[in-house]
Amino acid sequence: MLAFLLPLVVSCHATYYCRDALPHQCQSTEYAWTRLGGSSTPPEVIFKSDYCAKHPEQAKRAVVRNGECFDGLFFRLEWTALVAYTPGQTVAQTALVHELMHAAQSQRDVYDPWHEETQDWLMVDVINQELKQIVSCAAPEE
Ligand SMILES: [Zn+2]
Repeated sequence: MLAFLLPLVVSCHATYYCRDALPHQCQSTEYAWTRLGGSSTPPEVIFKSDYCAKHPEQAKRAVVRNGECFDGLFFRLEWTALVAYTPGQTVAQTALVHELMHAAQSQRDVYDPWHEETQDWLMVDVINQELKQIVSCAAPEE
C-alpha cells in the first residue's frame, strides 16, 4: 500500500519543495498561501537570526540589510522571503504570513510596501490566529 501511495505523494508535492526550518513551517506556509489566494507555489522562505546592532537593547533577531533591521523582506524576482526568527518564536509570531501577503499581493499586481491595503493586513492577523489553532491541534513533535 505504501509503495502505491508514495509516487502519488511525491508527484503532488513536486512543484513545492519545503523543509521545516521551524516546527510547522511548511504546513503553516501551505495553509497561509491557500488562505491568501496565492497561485502556483509560495515563495521560498528563509529564516534569518541576524544580530541587530542598531537596536542592541532588543533581544530579538532580525533580517539585517545595509545595517537596517527588518522583521522580514520579500523579493519578488527571486521569489524568496527572508523572515526574522528569534529562538523560541512560533511560526505565527514571525513575519512569515506578512511576507507571504506581500508575495500574494505581487501576484495581484499590488505593490503595498507601506501596508495601506488594510483588509489584506487584517487578514494576516486572522491567519496568524488560525495558525495558532492549527499548530496546537497538531501531533507533538519528537
Ligand atoms: Zn511588509
